[in-house]
Amino acid sequence: MNYRHIYHAGNFADVLKHAVLTLVVGHMRRKEAPFRIVDTHAGTGLYDLASGEAERTGEWRDGIGRLLSAAPPVEIAAMLAPYLDMVRAENGGGERILRYPGSPLVARRLMRPVDRLVANEAHPEEAAPLAALFAKDRQVKVLSLDGWTALKAVLPPRERRGVVLIDPPFEEPGEFERLCDGLATAYRRFATGTVILWYPIKDVGAVSAFSRDVAALGIPKLLSVELFTGTPRPDGPLVATGLVILNPPFMLDAKLATLLPYLAALFARDEGAEGRVAWLAGERMTSA
Ligand code: SAM
Repeated sequence: MNYRHIYHAGNFADVLKHAVLTLVVGHMRRKEAPFRIVDTHAGTGLYDLASGEAERTGEWRDGIGRLLSAAPPVEIAAMLAPYLDMVRAENGGGERILRYPGSPLVARRLMRPVDRLVANEAHPEEAAPLAALFAKDRQVKVLSLDGWTALKAVLPPRERRGVVLIDPPFEEPGEFERLCDGLATAYRRFATGTVILWYPIKDVGAVSAFSRDVAALGIPKLLSVELFTGTPRPDGPLVATGLVILNPPFMLDAKLATLLPYLAALFARDEGAEGRVAWLAGERMTSA
């Protein structure tokens, strides 16, 4: 059975990933020059939260559902506004949430007429709705390749500015190694791009090894962001997630150092809840 994101759409891990994607792309928009977004493992792009699959796990209720009904402090509300406004807009502006945008749609909603998106999804059942979603959109190219092949095929982008999201399903052994190799490939081909890698935290030993391998690549600027909603167990449910960000925009570290403790407290399941923001390579923390 292939991984299907509908079971997890809008959960706490999607919230972190999509909030960070929104902050990164928001920063790209500050300069006039066009940018390109590359999404190597795109999913379907839009998820029906009233579907049997989403209802079965109900993960979105403890993720985007909880965040939308929270009242964050002003600074955090401002940081999350572009992301949360987009989710609300996808639902007609109301408080009742029935549709959740996946990463390619989050990216698309932030693009200006000069910007481009390449959304790749390997599995035909997921690639078909993705292609239909963007069928008439000349700014979006949908590919249905293996994500690691797509990475090599589309980098560097013609614009020489951009964001790459690598968000594999972690359903096969060896995904951490492929993620690390994918980062090396992305850096070799597009050293100035911002690359966001997503990973689950279940086996903390495997995550430590991954962080060490990534830090040893000799890449100058790598930020690590980890959100624990509880204490992870290798055989337990997903309660923690992380991102590695190559070339994060200026001050993203400081913003995330404010946002992560808030999200950890909001989503907390046990005393293991915490947020961690640290440089794996390069800069020291900037303060807000
Ligand atoms: N990025 C999406 C989002 O944030 O909305 C979620 C993506 S989901 C975690 C991972 C996706 O990768 C699934 O839709 C799965 O079908 C797809 N996939 C699995 N193996 C793949 C491969 N080798 N290349 C590209 N996509 C793959």
